[in-house]
Amino acid sequence: MKRVYNFSPGPAMLPTAVLETAQAQMLDWDGSGMSVMEISHRSEAFADLLAQTKQLLRDLLNIPSNYQILFMPGGAKTQFAMIPMNLLADNTQANYCVTGTWSELALREAERYGDVTRVLPAQANPDIASIPAQSEWNINPDAKYFYYTPNETLQGLAFPNIPDVSMPLVADMTSCLLSQEIDISRFGLIYASAQKNLGQAGVTVVIVRDDLISAPQTCTPSMFSYENFRDSDSLYNTSPTYAIYIMNLVLQHWQAQGGMPEIVKNNVAKKTLLYDCIDNSDFYTNKITPAFRSSMNVTFNLPTPELEALFVDEAAKQDLLNLTGHKKVGGIRASIYNAMPLAGVQALVNFMQHFAVEHT
Ligand SMILES: *Cc1c(COP(=O)(O)O)cnc(C)c1O
Repeated sequence: MKRVYNFSPGPAMLPTAVLETAQAQMLDWDGSGMSVMEISHRSEAFADLLAQTKQLLRDLLNIPSNYQILFMPGGAKTQFAMIPMNLLADNTQANYCVTGTWSELALREAERYGDVTRVLPAQANPDIASIPAQSEWNINPDAKYFYYTPNETLQGLAFPNIPDVSMPLVADMTSCLLSQEIDISRFGLIYASAQKNLGQAGVTVVIVRDDLISAPQTCTPSMFSYENFRDSDSLYNTSPTYAIYIMNLVLQHWQAQGGMPEIVKNNVAKKTLLYDCIDNSDFYTNKITPAFRSSMNVTFNLPTPELEALFVDEAAKQDLLNLTGHKKVGGIRASIYNAMPLAGVQALVNFMQHFAVEHT
């Protein structure tokens, strides 16, 4: 059996220990004689698992008690619609700060349900290198919320600070939740689908302040209502039980490793190693202004697209996989979420140095 270093933007690597536990428990979970896949989402055993998963999130992320944690199906993209449907019931205005592909898609979806203000001028070129200062933003003061994407997964661009606005902040943290310490109390709603830092595809975590949950817009499907998911404790329909179980194992794993301080330490070491390699070479370039560089998705270019294609092929032969940049952006992208070990980034850096010498 071999295990590669998988630099995919998502689904991403999982900690090997988590996969081993899942393997060992596959046929008989916790003495039940069944797989987690086979147990009822309404059983006491699953209720315990769900409660424990919530508590792990609360402890790791320091989530205050006036925030609900919902486990929802449909992935992050479903939240693009759920957020305006639920938060714009009585006031249809919203601010959207577009800094890359994911926030642009969220804005387009919100435009179907509400009256959206573009906080930043529409970019002719979506590949912005930095985010304009807040003094230059066009904010609608009457809007119900302010939406942004702290980490733009395709571009490898991140906000260095949390925006300071007068309305509730809504953040798509799909590619950065659990990667750094955050002050949850600064936010109205945070969400992340699981397949990047939290587990496997199939479940999305929504962390929402109590007072923002109310009856959604009239035509909203009941499956899209935060109120229904709060009232049913995320068991409104058959929940994605196995995806929640895998998330539970991932959270337990990180807690045992030392929680957020340990995660942050690893992530800083990994990104420093990789960006230093890029900055110390004339062969690799990263377009993002240093203060706005992502810690999770490191994008870079080689001198030509032909060399980039060769780079990806040669890296794959060394078991360094999925390094092609998104087709909208091009170039190379190394996604280094929590489960990517420092040894994986070191292997990539060794390969990069070798490749640069051979092709300069
Ligand atoms: C991956 C990603 C998404 C899409 O997630 P799905 O679960 O596939 O819908 C949305 N936003 C960001 C920031 C992402 O990285």
